[in-house]
Amino acid sequence: MKRFNNHFDIIVAGGGHAGVEAALICAKLGLNVGLVTIDPLAIGRMSCNPSIGGIAKGQMVREIDVLGGIMARVADMSALQYKMLNRSKGKAVWSPRAQVDKRTYETNIRKLVSDCVRLSVVRGEAVNILTAGGSVSGVLLRDGNRLACSSLIITCGTFLNGLIHIGDQKTSAGRMGESPSGGITESLIELGFSVGRLKTGTPPRLKASSINYSACTRSEGDRIPTQFSHFTSSIYSPNVPCYIALSNPACHNIIKDNISTSPMFSGDIGGTGPRYCPSIEDKVFRFSHKDGHFLYLEPEWKDSDQVYLNGFSTSLPEQIQLSSLRQVPGFERVEFLRPGYAIEYDFFPPSQLKSTLETKALSGLFLAGQINGTSGYEEAAGQGLVAGINAAMTTFKKEPLSLSRDTSYLGVMIDDLITKDTMEPYRMFTSRAEYRLLLRYSNTDRRLVDVSQKHGLLSKKEITFLKTKVLLADEIVREASASFSPELVNPILSKTNSGAIKQKRPLREVLKRPSVSIEEFKSFVLKGGAPTKGLNSSLVGEALAEAETLIKYEGYIKRQTDQIKKVKSLNMKRIPSSFRYEEVVGLSSEAKHKLINIKPETLGQATRISGVTPSDISVLSVFLFK
Ligand SMILES: Cc1cc2nc3c(=O)[nH]c(=O)nc-3n(C[C@H](O)[C@H](O)[C@H](O)COP(=O)(O)OP(=O)(O)OC[C@H]3O[C@@H](n4cnc5c(N)ncnc54)[C@H](O)[C@@H]3O)c2cc1C
Repeated sequence: MKRFNNHFDIIVAGGGHAGVEAALICAKLGLNVGLVTIDPLAIGRMSCNPSIGGIAKGQMVREIDVLGGIMARVADMSALQYKMLNRSKGKAVWSPRAQVDKRTYETNIRKLVSDCVRLSVVRGEAVNILTAGGSVSGVLLRDGNRLACSSLIITCGTFLNGLIHIGDQKTSAGRMGESPSGGITESLIELGFSVGRLKTGTPPRLKASSINYSACTRSEGDRIPTQFSHFTSSIYSPNVPCYIALSNPACHNIIKDNISTSPMFSGDIGGTGPRYCPSIEDKVFRFSHKDGHFLYLEPEWKDSDQVYLNGFSTSLPEQIQLSSLRQVPGFERVEFLRPGYAIEYDFFPPSQLKSTLETKALSGLFLAGQINGTSGYEEAAGQGLVAGINAAMTTFKKEPLSLSRDTSYLGVMIDDLITKDTMEPYRMFTSRAEYRLLLRYSNTDRRLVDVSQKHGLLSKKEITFLKTKVLLADEIVREASASFSPELVNPILSKTNSGAIKQKRPLREVLKRPSVSIEEFKSFVLKGGAPTKGLNSSLVGEALAEAETLIKYEGYIKRQTDQIKKVKSLNMKRIPSSFRYEEVVGLSSEAKHKLINIKPETLGQATRISGVTPSDISVLSVFLFK
């Protein structure tokens, strides 16, 4: 038997967003970690958009923070401007987002990795998964080195047999300027895994000095930023502006006339792309009735001459990209630093995973990030973190971390991945969460602090800090139960054009009115020694927002909480992995086929598998509860 060159508790293959979270959390939990990555200088690189967060994604970044991850902290260290999305809607669905300086982000991640004592970065390409006795035993690198480990986390992103398309030009690459990776796909296929092919695209990068900004609309961030991490003590944002342009029929006509040169339309690209994030040629084709599509100009780093053109993802030939864009006001003389492109890559349908992100077929092997068919930094980081925590829990022989759909977007994402067919890159949306009213950015601490404490993901001080904020929100709700006289309340109500009260009323009644904000009544609820100790003004503001949501949406929140209680027993009922669906009389053949393939861990998961009907579930329940 060949000898190993080095031994680690955990090896992470790939230093992208998933890999970094996985490696750092394992090291933080006390394990000896090897982070194998092709280019150590590319650790934490943002392949596409210079931003973190957004609708539902911002909530995930918050969840990563409470579960001991780093994305939120690094985003705060690198932000160029913050914007709370969905502000026109109720506070329950507000979502934080930030433009981020890509270079600073990458540098900060690399520093965290290099400062981490139990983490060794190994420059190399993982090409083969080594096994012994039905478990992972290590990984073989292209240079012939063999590294041993008890758990292996694979996070190869878009690199597996990656192929870039620009018009009819094809280049093998993991992303622009970086070589693809071969070997891991073939190794996984040999181990019995099924594989698929997906595609994603990115817009051109423009030379800032070639843009006429006076023809575009300036878009600034929030004057008062909302920090991502609970542990950022003071927040500074230079509030660098973005700009908005609008495509026009002249631009669209050039795209339409050349649509057959797009590999998406010529049939050159086999992989499926994301419907929700269409390329410009897709938009022009599918929404031909629209005369214009918004294009967002986002700076890639501070004082950079490089601009990311959000909304113009494309794989058209470079000359067509350029000539169509030059029809748009503001872009008449635009120059490219890099054209847009599409990339096809291998992924492994995630129904082959348990909710811990360990593979069902090979113990000790975890997959996380884009390799599981997702798209997005936040989705990748969240999976990396969960895979890392569970690899560590397996090593310690401790209870795994399994997140539920009612406590986190991360739980929703993982449950969707393992129970649904992944036909296109999976990205998180609020609409994917049936209990989205409960999954607020402002209550992430309340939802996950106990789980974080149980698995030792944060320090005692950090846990106490999170609990202080939860207590403050509760305290504010209690203070709002006190009654106040018309003399005190009405002057404030008149400012918001809300009807006066005639007699002393509990403040919470007034706060239930849609037009009334708790901000105006801050001095009523924060008095009386509320425990604001140690919380900065941003977090106190968040506790206020949370208290207001608890009061305003009390009825809806109660309804969703009651629903969760009702389906809890179904969700918790475990199905043994050796369960023989073949022997269950009365199951439809489609359900039988899906259940045998996916092997759900609980009855709850079984209910969410497409093709498994309510009648199949009742047949199965009878069997399981017998
Ligand atoms: C062209 C393009 C367009 C995109 N568009 C969007 C978008 O519009 N919206 C969006 O949200 N997201 C987009 N993304 C996706 C976003 O970049 C990814 O979802 C995210 O980076 C995935 O993180 P990851 O950690 O899984 O992989 P990556 O960030 O891809 O990192 C993979 C890492 O693994 C390393 N690696 C690969 N193979 C090996 C190996 N065999 N051995 C060792 N190391 C290896 C690589 O060097 C790299 O460091 C796009 C990505 C690309 C490339």
